[in-house]
Amino acid sequence: MSNLFAELKTPITGTYKQPTGLFINNEFVEGVDKKTFEVVNPTTEEVICSVSEATEKDVDIAVAAARKAFDGSWHHTTPQQRGVLLTKLADLCEKNLDLLAAVESLDNGKSITMARGDVGAVAGCIRYYGGWADKIEGKTIDISPDMFHYTRQEPLGVCGQIIPWNFPLLMLAWKIGPALATGNTIVLKTAEQTPLSGLVFAQLVKEAGFPPGVLNIISGFGKVAGAAISSHMNIDKVAFTGSTIVGRAIMKAAASSNLKKVTLELGGKSPNIIFNDADIDAAVSWVNFGIYYNHGQCCCAGSRVYVQDGVYDKFVAAFKKRAEENKVGDPFHHETFQGPQVSQLQYDRIMGYIQSGKDEGATVETGGGRHGDKGYFIQPTIFTNVTHEMKIMQEEIFGPVCAIAKFHSEEEVIQLGNDSAYGLAAALHTKDLNTAIRVSNSLRAGTVWVNCYNMLHHQLPFGGYKESGIGRELGEAALLNYTQNKSVAIRLGGPLF
Ligand code: ADP
Repeated sequence: MSNLFAELKTPITGTYKQPTGLFINNEFVEGVDKKTFEVVNPTTEEVICSVSEATEKDVDIAVAAARKAFDGSWHHTTPQQRGVLLTKLADLCEKNLDLLAAVESLDNGKSITMARGDVGAVAGCIRYYGGWADKIEGKTIDISPDMFHYTRQEPLGVCGQIIPWNFPLLMLAWKIGPALATGNTIVLKTAEQTPLSGLVFAQLVKEAGFPPGVLNIISGFGKVAGAAISSHMNIDKVAFTGSTIVGRAIMKAAASSNLKKVTLELGGKSPNIIFNDADIDAAVSWVNFGIYYNHGQCCCAGSRVYVQDGVYDKFVAAFKKRAEENKVGDPFHHETFQGPQVSQLQYDRIMGYIQSGKDEGATVETGGGRHGDKGYFIQPTIFTNVTHEMKIMQEEIFGPVCAIAKFHSEEEVIQLGNDSAYGLAAALHTKDLNTAIRVSNSLRAGTVWVNCYNMLHHQLPFGGYKESGIGRELGEAALLNYTQNKSVAIRLGGPLF
């Protein structure tokens, strides 16, 4: 087998052919400098394979390919044809669901059940934006009988997209769907921790019939390929999902290069509020899902849990029992809920936060340590007696660690919930409709869930208030991040100036 493919195996698919090159112009190629890096299996801590690493030179080549496609083949494609291609790509994701999900579990460590759910959502998202492709419309605006005015929603051009490792395929779908539907071309960099599923997906892009250069997918590191994208003079827009600290760096790079447009989906420290009148069994279930889904590696994880004093003891006891029942282990076991964290670095960061919670005097209700003796597994952890100033209540942990505090009044919990630099998501649990609406409207967050959690959908916009980001992904709202408005004014008659 050429060095651009590796023969790998998963328990679901058996042996399969894993592309390892950079996907540029619909072909897998080596990087100019022929650099590679190792991809590690977080379940076993063993190397899976090596993939090509993109440097600045490869980013230049990918951008040139994307620019050529934008000005040429993609420009001449009708909106309807773009829609058909996206729909075909969605169909191919469904046809290859087992393979894509298995590669995601292998590389990221998420359970196969969750990975299958992710791939289903990938297909749904891409199909949804396929439906939008021929519905991107301008307006005619009547100003004067002597003039004809209309607006157009035009694509931005070449978009750089930088995605994280927590939902490798889903974040890819959220990014490419609206960008392609609106007629842009793309250079997308996957996260260095999880490049494999994006490369398998790339084969489907070609199979669906997208012209070369429309969607280029490269593997590489943030400081090299990511920085080259955000500071590139020939990229018109950068879309990023990841940490707030990197988001700032990307915005600075965009500002000091060509002022490319920027959308950011960043961190969170989302409050999850349980009122006295909540259905406690249901709330326990959603709080558990809110923090431990995807091993806590969600930007919208419900990591700050506020419980009203009347139900505090009952809730904590039931939640502790529930957290201890979560099945932690091999991602390929069908009953597993929680697999390993993605990397040694993430494992160490999370364990550092757990130590800080202990040092600052919070109570470990359950967990607080390593699970097993191999792989980056961490026990589902609950801290109680957490005060507002503690690091575990303030900072994004991005792991299976939940901080619980007691509150008394609605005003108090709104103030606590909003007292954060972040504003990505929030949730509340109550049977009172007035409380539900009043509190939802008072929380400064891009998404508020009532009596549920993590109920994201491609039809519904998602994004952050405050330091959680700029712009919205998903829904119709995302289209605005990938188009610009052109006004055309045509003189029909009337006096000359
Ligand atoms: P995490 O800290 O959770 O790994 P990051 O925000 O560091 O998340 O990474 C998310 C994505 O951003 C990855 O694709 C990574 O390669 C990329 N990235 C990291 N640093 C930079 C940077 N300075 N410029 C551009 N992209 C970056």
